Amino acid sequence: MQPFYGLMNASGDLEPTGTPTGEDVTELIKAKARELGYLDVGMTAHDRRYVYEDRRQHIKYPHAVCLALEQDFVETQSAPSMDAEHGHYGTYEVQAPLGLEMAAYIRSLGYHAQVHGPSNHSAATIPMFVQAGLGQLGANGQLLTPHAGARCRLQIITTDAPVTYDGPVDYGFHALCQVCQVCVDRCPGRALGREKIWWRGVEKNKLAYKRCRPVMVRYEGCAICMKVCPVNRYGAKAVMEHYLATGQVLGKGTHGLEGYTLHPESTGKYAEGYFGPGQLPVFNSEFFEIPRGTREQAALDGLIKVLATPETTPEGEEAVLHAFRNRLKSIVKGEAVSDSTMF
Ligand code: SF4
Ligand code: SF4
Repeated sequence: MQPFYGLMNASGDLEPTGTPTGEDVTELIKAKARELGYLDVGMTAHDRRYVYEDRRQHIKYPHAVCLALEQDFVETQSAPSMDAEHGHYGTYEVQAPLGLEMAAYIRSLGYHAQVHGPSNHSAATIPMFVQAGLGQLGANGQLLTPHAGARCRLQIITTDAPVTYDGPVDYGFHALCQVCQVCVDRCPGRALGREKIWWRGVEKNKLAYKRCRPVMVRYEGCAICMKVCPVNRYGAKAVMEHYLATGQVLGKGTHGLEGYTLHPESTGKYAEGYFGPGQLPVFNSEFFEIPRGTREQAALDGLIKVLATPETTPEGEEAVLHAFRNRLKSIVKGEAVSDSTMF
């Protein structure tokens, strides 16, 4: 992703290459997004209430083109796994240049365009995707889209092009989540709640970060809450039709939907193996301890750890010192801080 950060962050400074007509270009932008392979696209205002504090000065334009790109189904169904991680990050690798292409297209129409995401997001994206009608917040804390559930990677292009805003759509996901709860029941970290709560002025399903992240870092990004969601697995239409016909949630209680395998994590201390419906791993409190401190201290700790290893050769020490110096320099310069969820 590294080559794309500079290009995406600088995209808003580029001048338009075409001549604006002043006419509404919503349909032109949507057609281009579909031609490029985005699963869905919608328009809304870029809502400054959701902008990250360190990106407030960065955002230049008022409208948000919300772009959802589907990640691979088969890879995702193997979560947690490195294949599923490839489904996730491999999609970013495709999405970054696609976003740059979309922005270039908007500039060719005569308007400015600035790319936010993947990885260099400027705001919490889900509320704007909901406002643009692309989905609803699921109990797993992710955007549920009707076609692919949460199996989408999100990206926003802000622009000054004249566009017409879409509106939110009730796909029935809030009601479905109340009866489904599969992600809540299957989460190894018990990080998801059954009820919505009020959080910073919004009523929502709030993921308990401190119970999720330790699982994610130990088990290949986890993503079980995405994998086991029936909307991701079967699509909203099939799930809703099945519920109307039977009063049951499609796949709920089956190994095919709910089963997952935790591959051994690096310390070898914690749970591994297959967990079917009704089975969950058990972790002690040490498992959930998250390291605390400054980035400088983390760099120093990493250096000390390597230097304390008896097998480290003099050449290895040189390389580690060199890496430490570069890491410290980038921290001091404030580099490499972008998306608060990615670094
Ligand atoms: S990523 Fe894993 S630990 Fe985190 S909420 Fe989802 S299922 Fe739970
Ligand atoms: S697994 Fe069920 S409860 Fe969780 S987000 Fe999907 S539909 Fe909602």
